Amino acid sequence: MEVAIMGAGISGLSCAITLEKNGVTPTIFEKRKSVGDRFVNAESLFSILNRPIQDSISYVAENFHIKLSPITEVDKIFLHSKNQVGSVNGKIGYTNIRGRHANSFENQLAKQVKSKINFNSTDEYKDICKKFDYVVLATGDAEYAVKLNNYRYDLRCAVKGVTVKGEFIKSNPHVWFNYEILPKGYGWLIPFSKEEAHLVIVYTDSTSEIDQIWDKFFSLVCKSLDQDLKITDDFQIKNYMVGICNESKIDNTYFIGNCFGAISPGFGFGQFASILTGVYSAYDICGLESYEELVKPLFENYNHSIVFRRFLEQLTDKQIDFYVDKLNNKIIDKVVGTVSSKNNGIDFLRLATPIMKLVNDYKQIESR
Ligand SMILES: Cc1cc2nc3c(=O)[nH]c(=O)nc-3n(C[C@H](O)[C@H](O)[C@H](O)COP(=O)(O)OP(=O)(O)OC[C@H]3O[C@@H](n4cnc5c(N)ncnc54)[C@H](O)[C@@H]3O)c2cc1C
Repeated sequence: MEVAIMGAGISGLSCAITLEKNGVTPTIFEKRKSVGDRFVNAESLFSILNRPIQDSISYVAENFHIKLSPITEVDKIFLHSKNQVGSVNGKIGYTNIRGRHANSFENQLAKQVKSKINFNSTDEYKDICKKFDYVVLATGDAEYAVKLNNYRYDLRCAVKGVTVKGEFIKSNPHVWFNYEILPKGYGWLIPFSKEEAHLVIVYTDSTSEIDQIWDKFFSLVCKSLDQDLKITDDFQIKNYMVGICNESKIDNTYFIGNCFGAISPGFGFGQFASILTGVYSAYDICGLESYEELVKPLFENYNHSIVFRRFLEQLTDKQIDFYVDKLNNKIIDKVVGTVSSKNNGIDFLRLATPIMKLVNDYKQIESR
């Protein structure tokens, strides 16, 4: 059986590891010169958003024998709104490194792959298709899914990020919601260490000028943290598209990772779903389980998450202030503690979706 994987990112490499464990050696095509050859950034895996799974890192280790080592466990997140600061405490999840770093997730995965990776690949899908029994599209974007008329876009985002030097608590990321500065968007800071962190903004209003928005946001962050942060590296993505494929598999082509629609529109989390789609596509190729069946919950999660995003977008700064203020409450920590505990699988997003949908529909009628 000849299997091609296009893209040696987290979904493609997870697929390769699983194929190899089941006796299949894939041919991997990677357009860059090495694994993760792009900007270094810090990302997070919030297990609380992957219900009913309790701990994403242990889950992939125990169930798929894929070993990933994070930067640290997150025990507190600070939320900053226009006039309030709140925090959530508990076993929230993990932070991890991505990109051109020896300990990035993609480099950790590459060490678990035995098959050869063909770097600097310029091979096109249509040519690969003719030579292989199965093609797994893991290119990290929707380009091929769009070409195959198999993709629905829901958001077009502007993204800008920097690496900063300062003083941080490694296990405490920060998130900012301030629509006056970041229209319908948010910013976050994830520490790599006590001295270095990654700071990013994402917003959906593409008419606003990113550099002006960035300058205002950066001043806000320095003020919030009471620090004079020093920028050491930066990156920008003008059109980061968030959407989902219509079909997870067409003939012998599998759509995985961002090609599938792994990114949740709510907060932009896509790593865990990328790993799952990689593993699940390999199961299907090996005749173990059906890809279409396995990814059904991921389609559902995406749909809950788009409702959540629309809910967030219709809030005002005043309403966000109200919710953030309410976070400073021991009851919230108790709720997080209960939700994070090993013996329950409460999925808040799923439970809250009907209410958020009602609010969204009402707001739409009101604005007509
Ligand atoms: C700034 C930013 C912050 C994020 N933060 C988070 C976060 O905190 N938590 C979270 O869960 N998710 C986060 N995400 C989303 C997450 O990173 C993605 O969902 C995930 O990396 C997608 O994995 P993938 O395998 O689809 O793509 P990638 O891991 O990007 O891999 C795609 C690979 O395909 C290669 N490739 C591209 N085109 C071709 C081609 N034609 N032929 C061969 N190879 C090709 C690329 O070079 C790359 O190596 C973030 C994304 C961004 C941009």
